[in-house]
Amino acid sequence: MNRILHATGFAAEKHKQQRRKNADATPYINHPIEVAEHLARIGGICDEDVLIAALLHDTIEDTHTTYEELVDHFGKRVADIVLECTDDKSLEKAERKRLQIVNAPKKSSEAKCVKIADKTSNLSSIISDPPRDWDIQRKKEYFEWAERVIDGLLGENDALDAYVKEVLACGKASL
Ligand code: ZN
Repeated sequence: MNRILHATGFAAEKHKQQRRKNADATPYINHPIEVAEHLARIGGICDEDVLIAALLHDTIEDTHTTYEELVDHFGKRVADIVLECTDDKSLEKAERKRLQIVNAPKKSSEAKCVKIADKTSNLSSIISDPPRDWDIQRKKEYFEWAERVIDGLLGENDALDAYVKEVLACGKASL
């Protein structure tokens, strides 16, 4: 429990300058908290390392946090899951997106669960509270791409799979 609070505080500090792209510019930390909460409530996951990795899943990619820092604070298992959820930002965006599709099936079970919850959170936001400047075409393209990534992540947790499929169907019906 204390480690989860530590991770929440750590992520909040790391993301403190960042906002989501929705109309209200929600503080970024709401997103990783939602991802962790989704894993616990919908997925029934109580593995503390997985929930902590979910809280930290965007810290290496989107802040100055290093892998070593995560090892020091939260241990190697957590740091490894976060690293698996991290895109290589030195690559072009199109290449990063292509690699997410290619690499999804190769991820560990833990990383697949975090990534499914991450995609679920992002897709739900696009339906209910989209980025300010996204037109319908951009939303559709995101859904099409995300579905291909998600295809490679399914099969670890039935409840997470069922929920994300509902969100994908909802997006298809409404976009
Ligand atoms: Zn995320």
